[in-house]
Amino acid sequence: MIIVMLGPPGAGKGTQCDLLSEKLGLPHVATGDLLREAIARGTPLGQLAQPFIDRGELVPDEVMIRIIDEWLEKPGHETGFILDGFPRTVSQARALDQSLARTGQKVDHVLYLRVPVEELLERIAERFVCPNCGATYHQRTSPPQTGGHCDVCGSTLYQRADDRRDVAERRMAVYSAQTAPVIDYYQHHGILREIDGEQSVSDVFDAELAALLAPTVENS
Ligand code: AMP
Repeated sequence: MIIVMLGPPGAGKGTQCDLLSEKLGLPHVATGDLLREAIARGTPLGQLAQPFIDRGELVPDEVMIRIIDEWLEKPGHETGFILDGFPRTVSQARALDQSLARTGQKVDHVLYLRVPVEELLERIAERFVCPNCGATYHQRTSPPQTGGHCDVCGSTLYQRADDRRDVAERRMAVYSAQTAPVIDYYQHHGILREIDGEQSVSDVFDAELAALLAPTVENS
């Protein structure tokens, strides 16, 4: 089963991918995490990506497509996987379809987490992440148990530089212009499932599981 998780910045894609990955026993990859790791290691990819991320803009399609192709070629993805943060443009969506077609695969389900922009900017302003294990916390809805430290591994939490209000607003505009068309792309293919992302984490998760079990237009 190949699942794409779509949604604007701050909609909860990372949290939901972690839950789905555990429940379904599928590997998942977040392209934002891959880029942040590359930046932390100072690799050529990290140096290329950093200015785009700092400005809240998208890293060029050809770079992202190469990254995802390399990830797909690694062993362990034969029975399925979950993508978080990819595709973010229609070109990336088309390239993904082409890459999967080479091995007789296709995207089976696209889960689209819908959350209004104002709510998102608030969520992003309150988001803290663990630099070590990637766990995400929110001051209001899911604070860490020991203030400022990760419940999972104890590392000191930080706010992503691109979660600052000005960059977050830019990311939202980029999302509307470049990523929202991907929703139409998958809708057209009959595999998009819209999920109300304003519900609690567990209700969103239940809605996703129900959506994965229901037949898609393509399959019905
Ligand atoms: P995220 O962690 O998903 O919010 O991604 C953080 C940043 O990484 C984004 O604002 C983009 O600059 C970059 N990025 C992540 N995934 C992609 C992608 N598929 N295409 C282009 N840029 C990406």
